Amino acid sequence: MQGAFREHRFALESLGCDVTEVRKPSDLEGVQGLVLPGGESTAMAKLLQSDGLGDRIKQLAAKDLPLFGTCAGMILLAKDIDGSDQYRLGLMDVTVRRNAFGRQIASFETDLSVPALGSHPVRAVFIRAPYVAKVAPNVGILAEHEGKIVFIRQGNMLASAFHPELTPDKRVHEYFLKMVSEYR
Ligand code: GLN
Repeated sequence: MQGAFREHRFALESLGCDVTEVRKPSDLEGVQGLVLPGGESTAMAKLLQSDGLGDRIKQLAAKDLPLFGTCAGMILLAKDIDGSDQYRLGLMDVTVRRNAFGRQIASFETDLSVPALGSHPVRAVFIRAPYVAKVAPNVGILAEHEGKIVFIRQGNMLASAFHPELTPDKRVHEYFLKMVSEYR
């Protein structure tokens, strides 16, 4: 819809996926996994509400369609957004905090340890990123940065505060594609 969707397209295509862009409910026909990109969550929220796209995504998520939210996408997946009543899909049992890393370090890169992806760290790009302030016990924590949760999985849903589509390392997308092939 908005934000860093092209970079996700390139990352997924390089792994052999057929990629289609979703902007209206009918675009979801036949989709086997959905990426909610980074961008501006309030702008995306408007688009999700305008023609029932958000409701359709929620219906498919209830049938276990794999979803992957990055940054603003993570915010949209969360049940709670700290101090905000902006629209969200509200599918993951977590509380997120927007623009949470403070002004001086609004954008930064770091090496993240992600044991689920192997011993080699993941280079993570954070851009005015949220972090996860609270998780329910059914949410798996895949990575933290300085004690803040930045990568999570709950069943068919995956969410990262950082942007794996902006680095050449494809392990995060591969992980999501494994979730997609399990769903298929
Ligand atoms: N700060 C943005 C928001 O709150 C997210 C930034 C991003 O997706 N890179 O929606």
